[in-house]
Amino acid sequence: TRPRVVVVGAGFGGATAARWLAAGGVDTTLVEASPNYVACPRSNEVVAGLRGIEAQTLGYDALGRAGLTFVHGTARAVDAGARRVSLGDGTALPYDRLILSPGIDLRFDAVPGYDAAAAEAMPHAWKAGAQTVLLARQLAAMPEGGTVVLSAPANPYRCPPGPYERASLIAHFLKARKPRAKLILLDAKDTFSKQKLFEAAWARLYRDVLEVVPLAGGGQVSEVDPAAMVVRTDFAEIKADVACIIPPQRAGRIAAQAGCADRSGWCPIDPVSFESRLVPGIHVIGDAAIAGAMPKSAFSANAQGKVCAQAVIDLLAGREPETPRLINTCYSLVAPDDGISIAGVFRPTDGQLADVPGAGGISPLDAPDAVRRQEAAYGESWYRTITREVFG
Ligand code: FAD
Repeated sequence: TRPRVVVVGAGFGGATAARWLAAGGVDTTLVEASPNYVACPRSNEVVAGLRGIEAQTLGYDALGRAGLTFVHGTARAVDAGARRVSLGDGTALPYDRLILSPGIDLRFDAVPGYDAAAAEAMPHAWKAGAQTVLLARQLAAMPEGGTVVLSAPANPYRCPPGPYERASLIAHFLKARKPRAKLILLDAKDTFSKQKLFEAAWARLYRDVLEVVPLAGGGQVSEVDPAAMVVRTDFAEIKADVACIIPPQRAGRIAAQAGCADRSGWCPIDPVSFESRLVPGIHVIGDAAIAGAMPKSAFSANAQGKVCAQAVIDLLAGREPETPRLINTCYSLVAPDDGISIAGVFRPTDGQLADVPGAGGISPLDAPDAVRRQEAAYGESWYRTITREVFG
């Protein structure tokens, strides 16, 4: 019989891996809990009222026609000894190899006062969908002269430049639509992705709107009170009209259930095959994995999906997987039609994915407007291409 591979999670990582396996003739089952996929890349534009959530919502019909078995269901448990995944409805799926790409869970035990109920008043909007729409509505409804608080977590978390793109686009929205309103960015760290580029844009565009407060020494928001709409730090108590709290995160629950997550909450992997360092026969890709210097991005998850799927094909055929090179590029908007980017190349080095020195790059600090407009257009075209490749 043909070897069977089960993939859990039809996001950027899992859907990519499942397509690659199916194209390689592997008996592939892809399990996904949601009826459709709401993409996070470009969702900050939805938050800022520049784009509708429909534009982010992708169906799974095409994946169902990709030569794989698409199962709508939730993976509830993995029996790694028996090599079996059980679903919420009791179905058991046997596998020879399992790929987990469950994305993230928000840690509702990390910021005092910030639990799942609090997220209904103070949205994180770090999983796209209802949360994104809620934050966009709150911003649209807030009074002139109001205060928005945005809090960014310590590393590692999904999409390193994401909070700063969000800060930029919210500031743009306030400047255009809410006279005298302010945005306070509370950051649990002092340094962050594309920092010089973001800071230059903020100085140029949002000097009167955006105030950045680094919580020195790796601190974080000390408490939130969603009923009073108050956010507290060690230094201040801020009354917010809108509060977006992005809490710390961990690998999606099924990864821990399967025994693949370590004490950090994320999953250590072999950088050549993405096989779990903790559970043989299970591979972990995308945001859930500890991928060394590779950021948690859709671009990374897509690249890892291909590399991991090919390694699984090789391992099933008794071949040694080849040592991969992986690429990531992250585009961000600092304003509509004003984009910046960072690119990197990664290879396994001493058991970790490490940056290939000199291979990546970052947008120049002094680029003329035409280049910035071009980078914004590259970002849009990257989004169109990747969503068509993975979901189209
Ligand atoms: P996901 O895409 O989250 O997919 C996981 C899937 O698994 C989900 O569909 C979920 O329903 C399913 N699932 C989970 N558990 C189970 C289970 N037990 N059973 C069945 N199904 C399950 N990245 C970029 O590259 N560029 C960007 O510009 C960019 N912008 C971003 C902006 C924001 C605001 C945010 C929050 C993120 C952004 N990202 C961006 C990051 C990107 O969205 C993630 O890195 C990417 O989605 C990770 O892919 P994944 O496959 O690991 O997880």
